Amino acid sequence: MSRKTVKTYCRFCHAYCPMVATVEDNRLTDLQPDTDNVVYGGYTCPKGRQMIEQIDHPTRLQQSVKRTADGGFAPVASAQALDEIAARLAAILAEHGPRSIASYNGTYSFQNSASHDVTRAFHAAIGSPSYYTSITIDQPAKVAIGAARMGWWNAGGHMWSDANVAFIIGNNTLVSHFSIPGGIPSFSPHNALREGKQRGLKLICMDPRRTEVARRADLHLQVRPGHDAAVLASMIRLILEENRHDAAFCAEHVTGLDELFAQLAPFTLEQVAAAAGISAAQIAEAARLFAAGPRGTAVTGTGPEMGPHPNLLQHLVQVINVICGRCNRAGERLPNPGVLAPPSIPRAQATGPQPQWLAEGVRSRVSPEVGEVMVLTPYGPKPEMPTALLSDEILTPGDGQIKALICVGGNPLLAFPDQQKTQRALAALELLVCIDIKLSATAQMADYVLAPKVCLERDDVTLLTDIWHDRPYSQYTAKVVDAEGDKIEEWELFWELAQRLGLQLTIGDEPIDMAHKPSKQALLELITRGSRVPLADIRAADGGQVFDVPDVIIAPADPATAQRMQLFPPGLATELAAALADTAAAGNPDYPLLLVSRRMKNTYNSTGPELSLLGSKGTTNPAYLNPGDLAACGAADGDLVEVRSAHGAIPAVATASDDIRPGVVSMSHCWGGSPDPAAGSDSRVREIGSNTNRLIDNRANAERYSGMARQSCIPVAIRKLN
Ligand code: SF4
Repeated sequence: MSRKTVKTYCRFCHAYCPMVATVEDNRLTDLQPDTDNVVYGGYTCPKGRQMIEQIDHPTRLQQSVKRTADGGFAPVASAQALDEIAARLAAILAEHGPRSIASYNGTYSFQNSASHDVTRAFHAAIGSPSYYTSITIDQPAKVAIGAARMGWWNAGGHMWSDANVAFIIGNNTLVSHFSIPGGIPSFSPHNALREGKQRGLKLICMDPRRTEVARRADLHLQVRPGHDAAVLASMIRLILEENRHDAAFCAEHVTGLDELFAQLAPFTLEQVAAAAGISAAQIAEAARLFAAGPRGTAVTGTGPEMGPHPNLLQHLVQVINVICGRCNRAGERLPNPGVLAPPSIPRAQATGPQPQWLAEGVRSRVSPEVGEVMVLTPYGPKPEMPTALLSDEILTPGDGQIKALICVGGNPLLAFPDQQKTQRALAALELLVCIDIKLSATAQMADYVLAPKVCLERDDVTLLTDIWHDRPYSQYTAKVVDAEGDKIEEWELFWELAQRLGLQLTIGDEPIDMAHKPSKQALLELITRGSRVPLADIRAADGGQVFDVPDVIIAPADPATAQRMQLFPPGLATELAAALADTAAAGNPDYPLLLVSRRMKNTYNSTGPELSLLGSKGTTNPAYLNPGDLAACGAADGDLVEVRSAHGAIPAVATASDDIRPGVVSMSHCWGGSPDPAAGSDSRVREIGSNTNRLIDNRANAERYSGMARQSCIPVAIRKLN
């Protein structure tokens, strides 16, 4: 018997925790935290430790399947499936044109480090702009719209590791394991938070729930949902009024400060505090604490980004960071210049707004004021179409109507806003192809479902998180075990289809070998060519390492630069007026509670409960309510209730929770099953949970530029079900 231990890393979520795997005769027999790793210190979570079970789980798709005439599925060899899919795509391409072929790249597509580059190459080769990802139904304001409207600081912002203060808005990193740089690091977040508190960091948290992060905060603003932007506006107003901002920095690097200040006048502490359900003194304390810094960053999470006014909120978060001077300066050492990013020395200067990113590019056919969203990456801005409108793009006839959808590591039927519409859209497609580890709710509607390799069966490198770390950290993992049977990777799906369609794929300007399928390693070499640390060095390292890269000292500004960050861009006055109006608006008596989204510890969107340990912690997404609200609707802990919005109704398991402010219902998204009554999803709510997207109208309150739907802060009513 052969036995080996190898270092690898978890890709169940994007925290990429290092692990040590024991393999006996190509079987994974043990998985332990890599306690030698200096960045993570042996941190893992229960989800990652369940990956042994994931490999042989009975629900895992062990081979690809295709739809049969009687509506079921039959096994099919992946090569045959790819032949048939390619033939159908060729016909659709010929009849309906390139735009009719779309891909949706969900959460798990990001965990395969070659997936997005090859998928984009496929889209480029057929000329289809219909490239969609989960980013645009998650946080498009943060990764695209905010930078386009205001511009950005080329040398980046302050990181967590030397911050004196952090302002965390609707981001529960201790559970979600996600934050952008400056927030609580996703990597061993408990340790990072403990270390920050020990060195005296002051933590401000704004969240309607007393989350795991809020419990550890020095100041918790337990706001009524929907008023985050107004609270930010009143904080900025106070900081400017009391001259607590970095006036010298602002004088040199921003425009529109006076116009912004004038427009913030109505956002008085008293008006905003009354609407947000917190005290004026708390808002003032938060503003003064954050402004005192002197180092530290404000960041948002998914909750408020899915709620009202996300573009405005993100803009104001950028504003509070910039006016407080939370930008790295000339002569400072960049804490992490990136390991896989190409070498460069940033200058301490602004890049101005990019309004063309908001107005040019391919427009949505159903909402022309919305179009391609330019997502900022270390390799430059990359366009993608807005996912909130994908169902409408499928359902709306005319030139460019989407006819074929390739769904990669995502579950649109559970993840897209407006579940019934999504179901109609998926059913209307001429071709739906999924690559998915299981027959998910979406895969059950597919024409073909391809069986993928899971993460421990693949080579990968930590490309996604390269610049999220506070230090130049990276890890390469070879596959730990060989996948058994006929399984392919996400990128192979697109390479194989391209080859069958006679297309040449390129990454950057470099052609991919289309005559012989490249190895994953060769592909990653191509994707990361020109990186600061050669991929070969990362591969040769024993597990994840902090690499000894030459110091990058931030260069002074180009004396000729005239670029400034725009604090008062076109359209902001209208957005501020809308947020202000909300502070005076009466609630809807028919829907007196507000439903907000949340993360749950033992699941990652729709993945987790099928695994035994995670499933034993719960198989439903409860409707968490303050005990007073629960009693008011005559229900008790564990009762079934109906959650009803103006758009739809779902059943849920009521759970009393002291940490939620009265008037709020908190539920995790991406649960449940098909909305088709024949599927009987509602009757299985205790086993599979319930889908909050049935409560959401994807076109009501759609956000400018991104079409982002309001998926949190939904007015609802609750009643006990018998
Ligand atoms: S936080 Fe958990 S699921 Fe995420 S990478 Fe780490 S061990 Fe895996």
